[in-house]
Amino acid sequence: MTQPVTLLGATGSIGRSTIDVVRRYPDRFHFHAVAGGSRVKELVDVCREVHPRHVAIADETQLGALREALAQVGLSTIEVHAGQQAVTDLAADPETEVVVQAVVGAAGVAPTFAAARSGKRLLLANKESVVCGGGLLMETVRRAGAELLPVDSEHNAIFQCLAGATAQARQQARIILTASGGPFRGRKDLSGITPAEAVRHPKWSMGRKISVDSATLMNKGLEVIEASWLFGFEPERIRVVVHPQSIVHSAVEFADGALIAQLGTADMKTPIAYSLGWPERMDGYAKRLSLAEIGTLTFEEPDTETFPLLGMAYDALRTGGAACIILNAANEVAVEAFLAEKIGFTTIFKVVMTMLEKLSAANPQSVEEILALDRRARLDTRALIATLS
Ligand code: NAD
Ligand code: MG
Repeated sequence: MTQPVTLLGATGSIGRSTIDVVRRYPDRFHFHAVAGGSRVKELVDVCREVHPRHVAIADETQLGALREALAQVGLSTIEVHAGQQAVTDLAADPETEVVVQAVVGAAGVAPTFAAARSGKRLLLANKESVVCGGGLLMETVRRAGAELLPVDSEHNAIFQCLAGATAQARQQARIILTASGGPFRGRKDLSGITPAEAVRHPKWSMGRKISVDSATLMNKGLEVIEASWLFGFEPERIRVVVHPQSIVHSAVEFADGALIAQLGTADMKTPIAYSLGWPERMDGYAKRLSLAEIGTLTFEEPDTETFPLLGMAYDALRTGGAACIILNAANEVAVEAFLAEKIGFTTIFKVVMTMLEKLSAANPQSVEEILALDRRARLDTRALIATLS
């Protein structure tokens, strides 16, 4: 019997890497279901490769096109679903055991909660759902007995560094979150940056949204919030250090001064394989790290003046759940507008700051409240951007 895997965000960067790893273990796993956002051709390509029983496309208008395209390649036996709810339903399907959550953005909140509530092994790449879900998500995971394994490379590293640490050791430890610094590290003047420049990450090949987040350092801000919830560390015990080589994926400093770090090449197949195999180790087929070849590793303080979103994320974390949801929603909408060339790069900072200053919402107490706040923050951000452009 092989283990059934459901892959949400199958056509994306993490989705592709997951397929790469899973397909090397046909004796351990098979794909039960896959889901994507709106791109029919890519989703059909995935289906041809992994032959799932179910496929879902979030964009309902693409249902007919997806059915037709599957029929054309002789795959009409795959059950086709459409709509955001269909993606969420796949995450809760009793016939699946492992859910790889690689959707981008807050669209991942509902599927993450659905997988958690159903007690799955949840391989979570979608950091936005931790940022928005916060304590409520962690409580849901605990109550349902789900296994949450962080795929985000830093959090996967921290998970590994904390393995075997007692509660007492954790309470006195500090997280050191590494950041590549993105494509504009060292620059003071961020004017005139184009989307093409912003998505060209020096070390990692990733989706467009997270690539822009890496360029603004918002990615690290979201990851500080993510780390705080996943590991139960207050913001004061989470430090960010810039490490341009992206070899040390993060570290934990213990009370005695011992620093435990996890190192590896910059390849998401390693954390994916770790999470799939845990608590055992399996090969992710990523390139091996040769320390002698690398020679030098460097570290520096982040430039929070030029890149203010990192500080804003710390502020949001201290303020509470509503602030984190608004921070995330404002950023998503602003990044989208930047990628569509409607606003400039540094306007992303202004939009997020303005949205946080206007904050008046109470901290949400349910998934429905989280989703409602996210929707409202998006509308407000779009209205704000309309006044700017
Ligand atoms: P991507 O843009 O390459 O892929 C996103 C996937 O989500 C695509 O399959 C897309 O079709 C799907 N999608 C988009 N909107 C959707 C919706 N409304 N409903 C369902 N599916 C939808 O992004 P990515 O780089 O693979 O990142 C995915 C997630 O993983 C993000 O949250 C990102 O922050 C996180 N992450 C990525 C990396 C990386 O190396 N790429 C590393 C760490 C964390
Ligand atoms: Mg990361």
